[in-house]
Amino acid sequence: MGNQKADYVWFNGKLVRWEEAKVHVLTHAFNYGTAAFEGIRAYPYNGEMYIFRLKDHLERLQNSCKIYGFNLNYTLEQLIDACIELIKANKLHERTYIRPLVYVAGVGVGIGFSGQPTGVAIAAVPFDTYFSSDGGVHAMVSSWRRISEESLPPSAKIAGHYANSVLAKMHALENGYGEAIMLDSKGNVSEGTGENIFIVKEKRLITPPLSSGILEGITRKTVIQLAQEEGMEVVEREVTRVELYTSEEAFFTGTAAEITPILSVDKKQIGNGKPGSITRKMIELYGKAVIGKIEGHEDWVTPVYKLEEKSKKMGAKATPIS
Ligand code: PMP
Repeated sequence: MGNQKADYVWFNGKLVRWEEAKVHVLTHAFNYGTAAFEGIRAYPYNGEMYIFRLKDHLERLQNSCKIYGFNLNYTLEQLIDACIELIKANKLHERTYIRPLVYVAGVGVGIGFSGQPTGVAIAAVPFDTYFSSDGGVHAMVSSWRRISEESLPPSAKIAGHYANSVLAKMHALENGYGEAIMLDSKGNVSEGTGENIFIVKEKRLITPPLSSGILEGITRKTVIQLAQEEGMEVVEREVTRVELYTSEEAFFTGTAAEITPILSVDKKQIGNGKPGSITRKMIELYGKAVIGKIEGHEDWVTPVYKLEEKSKKMGAKATPIS
């Protein structure tokens, strides 16, 4: 975990100083994990900041709230504006992570939360790469299985669900690995603790389906789309543990992790132990996508400072961002 900080947090409709963004220890969400959240990235480019797939992330937040019955008292537009306002207030011009969180805000003891208010907090902090190792990550298959639909809905991004990821992640770190890969309840590959997973076999990209208990990642969706547009075949199907070991390439996808090559699994080298050509191609395309440089997908990014519009308003010829 990083110790990044910023000046302001957007807290229930207002910008408050970092130190003031606090809740009571008996808050329902703090005790029972009843919070829905998102992880979003913003990227600097040519003086501008671009938030990547902001609307998609906030729609997933709305869905997480719907699944658990949390009232979200702000519209999509209000949340979009809040994220923009927050980056501006913190004068962020570097790689940034945005964390919106909707939490059950009642204070007291008891599991039921009907009638309790919900709160919304959005933090934005400078955030560079998620995995520190260079070139990729060494992963292990965890003995902790990924949560399944039988007990918790994996497609909802809920704070309490992350106890599962924390167990697997800590087990991996304590054993000298960079990341854990969790299997689903049937024993097929599900995902990392905060990332989806892709493997390459005979030049095709293969990724586990929603029925393998994954969180439907926005980076995953982006990679599928970019690969297909490059003419690559992408298959969503169950992946066995052994297929993972014998894959030609493998990588994680996630907002924080971006696209991270998997160099080995359970000490078995993947491919030649270096990021493969398809992985490198996807990293290159993703790097363009996040700053609005993929033709036809410019709308994936939301400019924060709106430099182009400002210069237009001032009567000047808009400066191309490229
Ligand atoms: N799975 C889990 C468990 C995650 O926490 C994340 C990160 N949000 C992902 C997958 C990847 O999702 P995304 O690409 O939308 O960040």
